[in-house]
Amino acid sequence: MDLDRSLTKEQQAISLLQAAVAFDAGVAFACSFGAEDVVLIDLIAKHASEVRIITLDTGRLPQQSYDVMDACRKKYDLTIHLYFPQAQAVEAMVREQGVNLFYHDIASRKACCAVRKIEPLKRALAGSTAWITGVRREQAESRSKMEAVEDDAAFQMKKFNPLIEWSDADVWNYIRQHHVPYNALHDQFYPSIGCAPCTRAVSVGEDPRSGRWWWEQEDAVAECGLHMNPIKNAAGNYSI
Ligand code: SF4
Repeated sequence: MDLDRSLTKEQQAISLLQAAVAFDAGVAFACSFGAEDVVLIDLIAKHASEVRIITLDTGRLPQQSYDVMDACRKKYDLTIHLYFPQAQAVEAMVREQGVNLFYHDIASRKACCAVRKIEPLKRALAGSTAWITGVRREQAESRSKMEAVEDDAAFQMKKFNPLIEWSDADVWNYIRQHHVPYNALHDQFYPSIGCAPCTRAVSVGEDPRSGRWWWEQEDAVAECGLHMNPIKNAAGNYSI
């Protein structure tokens, strides 16, 4: 699906949200309540309220993420579907590898993401044939070739990315103009927010994704597996 260049970016995003609903009435928005995601929450509440909003409570989120989640729920009167990891899988993992296994090596970090994020996401998306994300091309090299609408080989679903061409300034202009609640950690130089032990602030000029899993070697892709390149997934590089 090509973007209609005669529309503003906001209109394009609304059009993509509505196209996602038309494609699958059970479409889900995977929301982590970062800056892009609260923009989509505002747009969904106003223009595509059929979208099912899902979020993952990994058990390791910062308090600020719960605060913005609650602020959005109250402001927009939305139902937010929280998904938790399987308790027994978490118990076994931390019993065998410790609560901070993600610092050991990349394989351990990916194992933690698989238990705390990927399995609950798969459960949250079960029954849907499409999902919506807040990814933008500008966010990272690993996202630079993503399209507005993609065939997600990993999940075998359509993936709609309504903000794919938005800049960071577009996102923040929208938040300010529409008085959208946002995660307080953004004001402390956290451009990308995930689990508390795996997220830190970045310095001026640093890659926005460099605050995620910063201890890993430089050529490791700073992704948890939710938005990996389908080719990499096909090659077994942390496919879902
Ligand atoms: S981001 Fe860190 S704590 Fe969260 S699931 Fe991944 S490895 Fe585990």
